[in-house]
Amino acid sequence: MSKDRPDAAAPASPQALLPALRALVAEVVGAAVAEAEAQGRQVSCAAGCGACCRQLVPIADVEAQAIADLVERLPPARRAEIEARFAEAERRIAAWQPLDSLLDADVDAPAEEQLRVAAGYFRLGVACPFLEDESCSIYPERPLLCREYLVTSPAAHCARQYELRTDSVRLTRPSWSLARLASDETPPQPTYVPLSLALYWQRERARPVAPQPLAVWVARFEAASRLVAEKLAQAEPDAVVVTMHRTTDGGAP
Ligand code: SF4
Repeated sequence: MSKDRPDAAAPASPQALLPALRALVAEVVGAAVAEAEAQGRQVSCAAGCGACCRQLVPIADVEAQAIADLVERLPPARRAEIEARFAEAERRIAAWQPLDSLLDADVDAPAEEQLRVAAGYFRLGVACPFLEDESCSIYPERPLLCREYLVTSPAAHCARQYELRTDSVRLTRPSWSLARLASDETPPQPTYVPLSLALYWQRERARPVAPQPLAVWVARFEAASRLVAEKLAQAEPDAVVVTMHRTTDGGAP
C-alpha cells in the first residue's frame, strides 16, 4: 500500500472520511453549477462576501468534532482568539434562546418553524467565529455545508436573507448523509450542530465514537445517502443518490 493512501482496514475516526467527502462535494457542486449555468443562471458568490456566514449553519456532529479538534490544534494565541469568538457567539445566542433548544431542534419540524428559527438566528447578526474580513479563515477545512451553499440571486440579497428572495443552486447535499454517519440508531438519525455552537456541543454533548475501518465508514455513508434519497424522493421525485463514487440520477434504489 502506498504511504499516501490511508489503510482502509485500520480503525479510524469518522473524521478520516472528510477529505474524501470534500472531494465528493466538489464534484457534486461542480455538476450542479454546470447545470445551473446551462439554464442561464450564474453563481453570484465571490471572495469577500460573507453574508451567508451569519446564517445558522447546521453542520454534522462529525464536523463539529473536527472543528473542535481544529481549534485545539491552533497556536495558543490564535486559539484563545477563536475561543473568545465562540464564547461571544454562545453568549449572544443564549440571550436569544437556550443553546440546547438549537441542538435538540426537530429536523422534521414544519418548514415554517424551521424558517422562524433560521430567520431569528440571522437577525442576531452573529458572524461565524472563523469569518475575517468577510472571508473564511479556514477555507480548506470549512464544513461541507459551506461548500454546498451557492446562490444565483444578487449577492446583496444575501445580506437581507428572509426579506429578499435568494435562489440557491439546487443539489443533494452530502452533508445530509454525513449528519447520519455516527448515529448508533437504526435507521441512522441525523445530528446537526449550529457551527457557532460547535465548541459548546463538544464540551456539553459530544460522546465518544468508536473507531471503525475506513471501509465501514464508507459503507455507512452510502447507506445514509440511500436513506436521505428515500426521504427526498417522497417530496422530490427526481432526487439523486450521492455515493462516494458517483452521483446518479434515478432516486432511491
Ligand atoms: S466556516 Fe467559513 S465559510 Fe463556513 S460559515 Fe464559517 S466563515 Fe463562513
